[in-house]
Amino acid sequence: MSIKVGIPRALLYYYYHPQWVTFFRRLGVETLISQKTTRGLLDKGLKSTVDEACLPVKLAVGHVLDLRDRVDYLFLPRIVSTARKEYICPKFLGFPDMVRHTINNLPPIIDCNFNLYHKGSSSADFYFQVGKFFTRNPAKIIMAYNASKAALDKHNLDMQSDCLPQEHAAEGSADSNGINIAVIGHPYVIYDNYISMNMIKRLRDSGARVLTADHLPESVVREEAYRLPKKLFWTINQRMVGAAYHYFSREDVHGIIHVASFGCGPDSFTGELTERCARNGSNKPMLSLTVDEHTGEAGMVTRLEAFLDMVRWRRNMADAAATL
Ligand code: SF4
Repeated sequence: MSIKVGIPRALLYYYYHPQWVTFFRRLGVETLISQKTTRGLLDKGLKSTVDEACLPVKLAVGHVLDLRDRVDYLFLPRIVSTARKEYICPKFLGFPDMVRHTINNLPPIIDCNFNLYHKGSSSADFYFQVGKFFTRNPAKIIMAYNASKAALDKHNLDMQSDCLPQEHAAEGSADSNGINIAVIGHPYVIYDNYISMNMIKRLRDSGARVLTADHLPESVVREEAYRLPKKLFWTINQRMVGAAYHYFSREDVHGIIHVASFGCGPDSFTGELTERCARNGSNKPMLSLTVDEHTGEAGMVTRLEAFLDMVRWRRNMADAAATL
């Protein structure tokens, strides 16, 4: 029977899952991804986490609990930095410790450091450490790493060619009726159907094409973010601001939705920067939503519908003005 590694369907799973799954598969290790988020799974996370944690971290604890008794190892990388001279939110760094100190009877945790902050650091170092849990053959690890990197590159290119993550690809209508809406938020919020309350599906069902930061090449997002007088430290929030700035300046994007998570410090900052961009120099409609464990679906649906009505109305007015 092969060894089984559990990967929580949470946090940076939404960026790296093609790479993680490919890497383990190439090492001959089976992976088990936690189930999709449900109310029960979120409740388990809420009960086991401190109140101060943000919603995505509480949810990630629920996903760990879902896997705990079904796997030989838990894969909870300690992610410090994903780009040179940048950090990621400290909650990623402390997540393996938080899990260890709040949940009993855990299987062994693979929590190697992923840290690209310093010059000369490479993601290969991280994968080498992880690979050593399962093989002593360095060549096998290198081959698995190369294949996993190719899988991630392909996934990123697919996303940039207007795809959505696999879980959303079949949802809603791909026919946009000419309305393009940019959704700016953490991938682990906007792509999680439960906590985003099916936002992507609802938008697509209403005939809107959905664009996210992942539809843009890294170079575009960074260039836009560099318009800020001071560089943002947090990589993901820098991506969010860069993508928002880009979409605000695009003629074919008709509205922007900023999705923040309750309890997220960086989001309060990026939300403000995005709103300033909306107020100064752009007349695009913008909707700000904050999701938390108590957010009511009805309220969110009403706000989305009202927002889409306004976007369509503005568009019709612009079309009418163009024909005068
Ligand atoms: S960036 Fe915000 S939402 Fe993400 S883990 Fe940190 S505090 Fe939580």
